[in-house]
Parts: sequence; structure tokens; C-alpha cells
Amino acid sequence: MNERFAAGAPGSGAAVDLSGAVRHDWTRGQVRALFCLPFPDLIFHAQRIHRLHFDPREVQISTLLSIKTGGCPEDCAYCPQSAHYATGVKAEKLMDAAAVIAEAQAAKRAGASRFCMGAAWRNPKDRDLDAVCTMVEGVKALGLETCATLGMLTDAQARRLKDAGLDYYNHNLDTSPEFYDEIITTRTYRDRLDTLDRVRAAGINVCCGGIVGMGESREDRVGMIVALATLPRHPESVPINMLVQVEGTPLATGTVLDPLEFVRTIAVARICMPASVVRLSAGREDMSEETQALCFVAGANSIFYGPKLLTTSNPGRDRDLVLMDRLGLTPME
Ligand code: SF4
Repeated sequence: MNERFAAGAPGSGAAVDLSGAVRHDWTRGQVRALFCLPFPDLIFHAQRIHRLHFDPREVQISTLLSIKTGGCPEDCAYCPQSAHYATGVKAEKLMDAAAVIAEAQAAKRAGASRFCMGAAWRNPKDRDLDAVCTMVEGVKALGLETCATLGMLTDAQARRLKDAGLDYYNHNLDTSPEFYDEIITTRTYRDRLDTLDRVRAAGINVCCGGIVGMGESREDRVGMIVALATLPRHPESVPINMLVQVEGTPLATGTVLDPLEFVRTIAVARICMPASVVRLSAGREDMSEETQALCFVAGANSIFYGPKLLTTSNPGRDRDLVLMDRLGLTPME
């Protein structure tokens, strides 16, 4: 297949660039056309483009720790940590910095290269940020990359985190702009984009992706990828999450997304953001090993590693290592 193909109706003239070059002008028509490719063509191009930018055998490993669990004032419909839903997750205080650093040490011993700290806040208070900065400094001193997800930030807070040594800030767009209001009402898409701008302006790398399987249409998955791939700079990390249906949340029931559509989403993310690390994120616990293997073939090259992802379970460390071994994958240095 050529490195360009016609998108949309015959004669529409829209061509999809499959060269693997980093571009920021993706259109809905082009991204939609990628989703509609025959599966073998889509996977072939995703894998081919993946190899232009990465060693296909390497997988970046991150560990995620919830440093402040539950009681979040936001109403994200998928989230067991929202105070709006009765999910059995108890609100806890911010962890002690020494305990966080001890967890980071254990993660490093287990093979992680990046340690992510997540707090269930709408935005951090300045007093809490002091404590988080102490954690960032301590984790960084262990030789790990640092990442935090703390909600919305002001310019000054982003700069303080940068000064403390924060390498990455996670703030997801979650879904398409059109579907967003079905999922969150307590902050806007614009709020999210503004936080991403502040993180960029502070010189921190961006980790930003979304969740699929929330009842959105394929067109919403198209819209989500377009929103990510047309940012002025692509996020360095793009987590693609499969919804974990948690009892008590509004999304506890509903049709589970076809795993092959999940693989397609990974492949389209890989093609549209060819130099970004695409992370196979939440939802791996319920995914077959075959689906995970297909995700790696489609260009996913990062996983969260460890038995818990914030408050939901994740495949145990040993299972991950066995799977990586069976697939001939090695941790990215
Ligand atoms: S996803 Fe984050 S912001 Fe939304 S409710 Fe959960 S913890 Fe709060």
C-alpha cells in the first residue's frame, strides 16, 4: 500500500499521510479514514511507522501510586474516586513523603523507569503542593523519572513543580470535545487545554490521552485522537485507557467495547502521534493477553506496571513479566 491513500468518498481528494512524519494538521476525515482501514492494513502501517521512531521490542514501564485517594469534588463519570458516587473508596489524606519515596524505591527495584504520583484533587492547594514537591525531589534523587497528576494547575504551580524536578504532568482530555459533557460537568474541555498549556509553558513534558469504552461513538474516538494530534506539540506520552466499569459510578454498566476497536484506537494514535510513547493503560486486567499483544503490535510501547492502578486492579507484576518475556519485549531504559 502507498504511503498515502484517499480518504472519504472516492474523488473527495483528501489524502491520508502514512509517511510517519510528525504532523499537527490531522483532520477528522483523515483520522476517520484510518479507523476504517482494513484491520491488517491499519496494523501494518501502525507497526511500520512505530519502527521509524522506536525499537519495537522496547516497552517503557511506569508505576503509578495514588498519593491522595478518594473524596474528589469532580464528577468524572468513570471515576471511583469521585465524591459524587458511592463506590466504597474512602477519602484519605495525602500520603507522607517518606512513604511515597519508599514506594518509589520498590518500583525502581521492580524495573520501573518512571514513577507517577496521582492525587484525587480538582486542583492542588499551595500547601499540598509543598508536600508534592518534596516527593518529586525525593523520587528524582532515586534516579527515576517523575510524573504527577494533580488536577488543574496555575502557572505558578506548574513552575514550582518544574523547579522541584517534575519531568511529566498527566492531564487527560478523556474523550472528544462533543462527548465530554456526558462524562464530566464540573470542569470544561477548555479548562483541560488551559492546564496543558500551563504545563507546556513551564517546560514539563505532557502525558495526555483518554478513555474509550465509555459509550462514546467511533466518531468520538476520532474526535479524541484529532484533539490530541492537533495540539501544538504532541504529548510525549499518550495513555489510552479502556474503561474499567466500577460499581457505583454512572458507567458501571453498559456495552463493553470490542477489543479490536480498542486495538484500532491504539493503532490510529500511533500513526497520528508517531513519535509519542503510547501507553496501554487502565483496563489491562480485563484484557486477554492476545489483545495486549495486538496492542503492542499496533504500536503501544508503554505500560503501567504493578498490582494497582490508583484504585482499580492491574495485572500482577509477575504476569506482566511473563507476557513480556513470551513476546520478546524488554523494558525501555
Ligand atoms: S478522574 Fe481525577 S478529577 Fe476526575 S473524579 Fe477522579 S480523581 Fe477526581
